Amino acid sequence: MNRTEWPITGCEQPLDRDGFGEKCAVVGVFGHPEAANLAYLSLYAMQHRGQEGSGIVSAHEGILLSHRGLGLVADVFPEHIIRQLKGSAAIGHNRYSTSGQTLLKNTQPFVVEYGRGGLAVAHNGNLVNALELREQLEASGSIFQSNVDTEVIIHLMANAKGDRTIDRVCAALARVRGAYSLVFLTPRELLAARDPYGFRPLVLGRIKDAWIVASETCALDLIGATYEREIEPGEVLCISASGLESLHPFPRQPRAACVFEYVYFARPDSKVFGRNVYEVRKELGRQLAREQPADADIVIPVPDSGVPAALGYAEESGLPFEMGLIRNHYVGRTFTEPRDSIRHFGVKVKLNAQADVLRGKRVVIVDDSIVRGTTSKKIVQMVRQAGATAVHMRISSPPTIASCFYGVDTPTTEELVASRLPVEEICRFITADSLGYLSEAGLYAFLRGQRGGFCDACFTGRYPVPVTDLGRKNQLWLFEVAEV
Ligand code: AMP
Repeated sequence: MNRTEWPITGCEQPLDRDGFGEKCAVVGVFGHPEAANLAYLSLYAMQHRGQEGSGIVSAHEGILLSHRGLGLVADVFPEHIIRQLKGSAAIGHNRYSTSGQTLLKNTQPFVVEYGRGGLAVAHNGNLVNALELREQLEASGSIFQSNVDTEVIIHLMANAKGDRTIDRVCAALARVRGAYSLVFLTPRELLAARDPYGFRPLVLGRIKDAWIVASETCALDLIGATYEREIEPGEVLCISASGLESLHPFPRQPRAACVFEYVYFARPDSKVFGRNVYEVRKELGRQLAREQPADADIVIPVPDSGVPAALGYAEESGLPFEMGLIRNHYVGRTFTEPRDSIRHFGVKVKLNAQADVLRGKRVVIVDDSIVRGTTSKKIVQMVRQAGATAVHMRISSPPTIASCFYGVDTPTTEELVASRLPVEEICRFITADSLGYLSEAGLYAFLRGQRGGFCDACFTGRYPVPVTDLGRKNQLWLFEVAEV
């Protein structure tokens, strides 16, 4: 159901899709006099992981200071707000929800006062048994403020035994399943945790004596922090005035790092799961050229996501690389289409085809993935209209056939064009002269033979962690009208 179709109260979203999944960014800073400012800059660097809302919580003189808002990082945090977020420790979050509920109360970090004082938490990933746990918690009297899975962790922590926060975090996480890269803040400590499968990235960095935890290394680069290491799958880390304490409290699991981080999601200048994303994407493009050559004159990317793969494709095929599509980088909001309908208006706001580059050329368009196929269709038509004599679509990943339940925004399986149609029919649907995807084996060519350790459920339908919440309803009973 589309958000705009929801009633004001009693709206519900069936969890037969990506539930209340989030593709988000998290950051934590400990031991720096400008902790909130560094968290802000880190969120700014990771804006691509979530644009709906953002929040920072800092720890100052025994209390937590919090500010959250809807919209882009730079809009949510004017300078006077950052100045008020005092203290030498902070955590932050950028949110992008798949459920579409862009509400302040669903914006993170969540902050609560529980029996042991102030606690804030921010989450990237998607729990697959949150609704089941929520039912159990509600049956024993818990009251929830939001309908985001992360809140379950807070309730489990409140119910857990143990004097130390790290023990309560371990006890709570022992009960949840799914994907999580988490940061927690109390007035005295910063904690970070990653699920035992290591679905989503999380890295540890350092500026002199200060520690930084972030989803991606591009955040470390911006604030001048050095990269120390990944937070390991299944690791729970506590950073306090006494130093670092690292626990591995959960049974070891096979690694299932999200391969889609490489294909599309992460920033190309980040090091993710120990590898530079740009290099991996270029290798995907080279492999694509080997598997899916085309009789063409030029290679063009769909910017920005298709650029590194198109460079790899061009390099391997020996065809010239051209920018046949130019992207407007300032597209931030939706537009009202002019009454005299302009062809492909929606896509044209973001991308423009250069007739002088494309006229009379046989063109290979490289993109990272096809989801519904609607954008790809418009792009093919735009390139043809600009004068291309043949349009060959090449995709640097296998067909996307299944929804993600671990934190990447994908529509329902039925809405994925590749789950309904074979490649030849998708080609016809997007009106290309030919369409070629990377093979499943080719996706891992960058590993040079050491296949394994990745989750590729979106391409294979093989889910490493079963989804308990499938079919349960994620209900939201209260909307604040001003937010709708
Ligand atoms: P479509 O032609 O409508 O299937 O859209 C394909 C475009 O969506 C490609 O350019 C992809 O880069 C982009 N894309 C793939 N996955 C996602 C995602 N999870 N969120 C937003 N865009 C995506």
